[in-house]
Amino acid sequence: MKYCKECGVYCHRGLKRCPLCGSFLESEREAPDALKKYHTEIELSVSYPPVEYEDQTDKTRMRYRAFTLLLATIAICFAINFVVTPSSLWSLYVLVGSTILYFCVFSSLFRHSRAYSILATCTVLISVGLFGFDAIQSMDRLGNLSAVGFSVCYAIPGFLIAMIVTFDILIFVGRNTFRYYFISLYIASVSAIIPQIVFWAIPSLDMPSWFTLAAFFFAVFNCVVMTVCYSRRVHHEFVRKFYI
Ligand SMILES: [Zn+2]
Repeated sequence: MKYCKECGVYCHRGLKRCPLCGSFLESEREAPDALKKYHTEIELSVSYPPVEYEDQTDKTRMRYRAFTLLLATIAICFAINFVVTPSSLWSLYVLVGSTILYFCVFSSLFRHSRAYSILATCTVLISVGLFGFDAIQSMDRLGNLSAVGFSVCYAIPGFLIAMIVTFDILIFVGRNTFRYYFISLYIASVSAIIPQIVFWAIPSLDMPSWFTLAAFFFAVFNCVVMTVCYSRRVHHEFVRKFYI
């Protein structure tokens, strides 16, 4: 029989996750005496009916429509851009903005994603989007990436510090429930240290980087403090999520 370490219950051999808490189940375990009869005689003939999910067709259709609408908008903008104002790349802003809109807003609305995964996706996508806007602006003005700086030096570190503080609050508020916010926190922290690491790795970039430095140390310090303060929770969360 399968066994759930978290709940201390034996489960049907066909299950992958515990029906009570959702953790991955331990592989086959010797059934205790009280369950021997069930294990050897009954369990073999037990089968569960396929799980009925709520009707998703409406949501899928809405998501498909939103996707088509955004795609049409992007196509029209590209067409107008290249026919009327070929000297500017403004339609790329529409492309980046629409990508963020689709994955951060429409996907969260029309899918059954958990809060932590929506927030983690938004954190990464908006950071990349901010850099994208900056890069487009630089390409538009100078034809190269030499004017990229504002996003990496100020906008992205500022945004990520705000997200890290948000995840800290969520972890503190929801400390008695399992919401996997540590995973989001680690994703935001790793994203926040990347700009400074890039500056250290490529000294020739020569950008004013006090804010990225602040973000770097804040992310590392915050991560260490949170992990130490909530070490049992972190362990629990990773066991439940990844079975490690
Ligand atoms: Zn369980």
